[in-house]
Amino acid sequence: MTRILSATLVRDSDDAIACAGCGHALGPAGQPWKPAAVLSEVAMKGLGGAPYSAADDALLRRFLCPGCGTLLDSETALPGDPFLEDVVEA
Ligand SMILES: [Zn+2]
Repeated sequence: MTRILSATLVRDSDDAIACAGCGHALGPAGQPWKPAAVLSEVAMKGLGGAPYSAADDALLRRFLCPGCGTLLDSETALPGDPFLEDVVEA
């Protein structure tokens, strides 16, 4: 049975976290799924106005589905920061 976890993620019948759009599995439930996504990083400078331009090296990270390219999640970070741990279900 597939269970909806968010607008972009589901828990599939194999107990994997998967893309809601295409079903591409991103890893077992209870484990971080972001390392299995395609990562795109762009500089925040200039993207969100002055509040996001103060730190020259702030990044917008976008986590995309390897199967269909859907944007699954995003976060801001500094270069080298670990991903925000995002275990969506144990
Ligand atoms: Zn997908």
